[in-house]
Amino acid sequence: MSTTDNSQVDAGDPPDEAAATTQRDTVEEDREESVELDVLDVFWLAGEGCDGCSISVLGATNPGIEDLLSGSVPHLPTLDLHHPVLAFEWGDDYMEVLQEAANGERDPYAVVVEGSVPNERLIAGDSAEDGYWIALGEDEDGNPMRMVDWLDRLAPGAVVTIAIGTCATWGGVPAAKGNATDAMGTMDYLGRDYRSVLGLPVVNVPGCAPVGDNFVETVAHLLLYAQDIGPLPELDELGRPKWLFGETVHRNCERGSYYEEGVFAEEYGSEKCLVELGCWGPVVKCNMPSRRNLDGVGGCMNVGGKCIGCTMPGFPDKFTPYFKRPPGTLISSSGSKLLGSVVRRLRQITIENQDREVRWDESPGLEERAYQWLLKRGSNYDTGRGADRGPKGEAD
Ligand code: SF4
Ligand code: SF4
Repeated sequence: MSTTDNSQVDAGDPPDEAAATTQRDTVEEDREESVELDVLDVFWLAGEGCDGCSISVLGATNPGIEDLLSGSVPHLPTLDLHHPVLAFEWGDDYMEVLQEAANGERDPYAVVVEGSVPNERLIAGDSAEDGYWIALGEDEDGNPMRMVDWLDRLAPGAVVTIAIGTCATWGGVPAAKGNATDAMGTMDYLGRDYRSVLGLPVVNVPGCAPVGDNFVETVAHLLLYAQDIGPLPELDELGRPKWLFGETVHRNCERGSYYEEGVFAEEYGSEKCLVELGCWGPVVKCNMPSRRNLDGVGGCMNVGGKCIGCTMPGFPDKFTPYFKRPPGTLISSSGSKLLGSVVRRLRQITIENQDREVRWDESPGLEERAYQWLLKRGSNYDTGRGADRGPKGEAD
């Protein structure tokens, strides 16, 4: 476990895939024992954000946040959420619990960061006396306690530290070009070598706003692992749950068949592929098309919007301007159009062929001809036979 302070800002190269695999092996090997969990305090720290991640989590259903708070999910502890907006306590009562955790009196606990982490060194350095970007409560001398002070104090003792949303994971909108606070993601602030009590790096659940179910599902997996009931959730080299962020948007998009046949929307409101209107889905890691936005409903392309890459570390700067085609689209969509025009014609021929019953196209045999002849003569021959044939004219 590493300790941190406000001076640590690690913005080096991201770790690679091999490092993630080694890290996973090491975490499992080093694990000594499970954590006793009946009730788990969760300290939700708000950085620079819009609270949209909190709203997303409130909409989660699988399980719902209320299920986790009430302890009604089998094998999962009851969560005692200390959220700056949602908490029952306020003022000194609210701050007292955070203080106890920082003093090591409320172990075990988890930390969730929503919103990006400001670089307080730009203003004051070691204390908030000369100013601050974000604070929560006051110290005994009446000086504001900065959000980064709480993060420094709580993260080293946390069972796990989870960053929710693209601001907390990679910096997001507050870290866009020209930002005054030098905003950054939690992993960049705490350092890539940060490890929680469980030996885990910062667990990143990105999205602007994220899918609420992605977050609660990750929390549930981590809690099962903490109690040694479930396996270590597989994280990628950037600390993202691999099963949620391992595929591109494009692979699960319901408009994918239009792309494959080279059919592209020219204006919004079309059901066709949106790549020529600026969709980044082919290169963005996100499970929105398969999971959808809320309880299996909605989601970007499903409701007519294109992917703007909101889960990605480069968002938003690397994905703007939003209303222009991504680079490379000209080559890939031109290729799809060329091949798709041939494939579409061949498929149309096959569709016309397959859209018929077999017997409609059969040449009648001798017995059938005899039957038809007798039928026309008003014979008592078994006329029920074959009475259910397809279009009369076709069979005649
Ligand atoms: S709309 Fe975007 S994600 Fe969907 S098929 Fe087209 S390019 Fe792929
Ligand atoms: S599909 Fe694209 S825009 Fe939509 S949530 Fe995923 S990354 Fe963001």
